[in-house]
Amino acid sequence: MAGLMNQRFFLLGVLAFMVIAFDAWAQPKSDASEMLVAETSQFRRTGPYAEVEAMCQTLAKKHPEFVRCLTLGHTAEGRHLVALVVSRTGALTPAQAKRAGIPVVLAIGGTHAGEIDGKDAGLMLIRDMLNKPLAKDPLKHQVFLFVPVFNVDGHERPSPFNRPNQNGPSLQGERVTAQRINLNRDWMLGQTSEMNAMLQFISQWDPLVTLDLHVTDGVRFRHDVSVSMSPMFGADDVLQEVSDKFSVDLIERIQAKGHHPLDFTPVLLDFENPRAGIMRDADAPRFSHVYAVLRNRIGVLVEDHAWDPYAHRVQTSKDVLLAALELVAAQGRQILRAALQADDNTEKMQSEVVALDWRNMLELGLNIPTGQAELLGYEYTTHASAPVVGGRHITYHLDQPVVWTVPVYSDIQPVNEAIVNLPRGGYIIPVGWTSVVLPYLQKHGISHHVLSQPLKNLTLQEFHVDEDSIRFETQTFQGRIRTSLEGEWMPAQMDIPPGSIYVPIRQARALLAAHLLEPVSPDSLSRWGLFNTAYEVTDHISNHRQLQIAQWMFGQDKKIREGYGANLHRKLPDLKREYQTRMDRDDRFREDPEQRMDFWIRQIPYHDPTFNKYPIVRTDRVITLQP
Ligand SMILES: [Zn+2]
Repeated sequence: MAGLMNQRFFLLGVLAFMVIAFDAWAQPKSDASEMLVAETSQFRRTGPYAEVEAMCQTLAKKHPEFVRCLTLGHTAEGRHLVALVVSRTGALTPAQAKRAGIPVVLAIGGTHAGEIDGKDAGLMLIRDMLNKPLAKDPLKHQVFLFVPVFNVDGHERPSPFNRPNQNGPSLQGERVTAQRINLNRDWMLGQTSEMNAMLQFISQWDPLVTLDLHVTDGVRFRHDVSVSMSPMFGADDVLQEVSDKFSVDLIERIQAKGHHPLDFTPVLLDFENPRAGIMRDADAPRFSHVYAVLRNRIGVLVEDHAWDPYAHRVQTSKDVLLAALELVAAQGRQILRAALQADDNTEKMQSEVVALDWRNMLELGLNIPTGQAELLGYEYTTHASAPVVGGRHITYHLDQPVVWTVPVYSDIQPVNEAIVNLPRGGYIIPVGWTSVVLPYLQKHGISHHVLSQPLKNLTLQEFHVDEDSIRFETQTFQGRIRTSLEGEWMPAQMDIPPGSIYVPIRQARALLAAHLLEPVSPDSLSRWGLFNTAYEVTDHISNHRQLQIAQWMFGQDKKIREGYGANLHRKLPDLKREYQTRMDRDDRFREDPEQRMDFWIRQIPYHDPTFNKYPIVRTDRVITLQP
């Protein structure tokens, strides 16, 4: 891991920071009217959303050749979701940026509205860069899109108690939207108006780098920021290399600005004893920084340290943003080439093997550290029996900074059950399910075609669900009952009716399509419970009817021939012999009436043929459509 420094460097860093911060406050370079509540209150408070909207308009009016203020959409409560488009390249629309090959960077503040550093940092940075351009102005080399507050409704529900593990500002917004959805788990499902506006914005602008600006949730140490990326979810080697380099260079630049970054958000193995070790999470596509990777782009999760004072955190966020913009100014065109190359490579992913899910090997009980880290921590006491409440708890001694030497567990490997062979042709959504699936293809910009003609007797693959593997989660997540299952794709033949949808694998969004449509991926539509009716028992053969059928079969009754066909009737003598052999030789069979009943009943044609059938099929045939 990068960014581990000794204490002496840390103190030097703090001094360097204080100089920077003092400079920023003592000599404001902006009109008084452009000062934010955060600045005028010495970072004790942050402003209301009206301030964001006003600032967006003011900057667009003052610098019309460099700034646009857009409304992306509306929140659940009807507020405007605004974004600033800032550039000195002359490109202020998606078409202009694309035509000129100019990299686009998107930064999102207030996804969790209480973690609001990014809003004030981004507005200050943009204002300052416009009022007094930097010597090497990064805005000459890119388009910077800034959404100051993503969860606007949450922002407008301030309370001193929304962020109990955070050091200011005095009032903080709420984590979730008006509908209590966590936006940083909503990137794949997109069940909020906020996310749908964002996905549309991303489809239009196609940002090369997305930075999601957050604040940590509680662990106490002295690193002031973590910068996490999950490039392993990508399917392109070159882009993975470029992403890794981006991460290393970004960390270096943040360090050079006097900070103490970590290159992943550490999770403590033992919350009461940090020295036990730290692990890295594998994350999932529902997070912004993984979602970007599925689109062959770069996604960065930035987490300021919650216990740093608000003034320091805003400065940290500002420095991280500037470091990223400087990096894109220097390397953006190269990174963009790699990303576009990855799009081309993704179009050729037919039949390729891809891992759709990853996990830390600790989850499999493999507790071999991958290395060791020196973390800037504090001395602490792990109580065997804590004061007042008893039990095992921790107290940090904030007056005793120390360095923790801790084992690191960062071995992230593919989940075996989620390694799939992509189809050669694509996915087919049968007409009965298109109303469920189509909105997701549309919101994620996935190419698809509605079949106007039937496809007769098409050779395809059906997903055979292993019935024992189906698990409905017992608690809702984002309001949904998530469902996991395993199984495998098996050859089949079927008539596909007109009105069904074909999703070709030959497209730049193939990886995203596979993540939505392969049932085993962590954020597939199946996993999010959209196909739960497929796995729900809705009908049964009543007990007396089952007994009657078993009796007819045992007695070789002609009713079996009449009801179920001559083939089954001809098999009955053999079945009876097999039954009697098992009764003679298999004690467990003989003593289990359920198994004995099942022996007969499973021979008759199944009464609920679509039960436990994954509704989407795949084909290796490349379907060419009539114009
Ligand atoms: Zn957050």
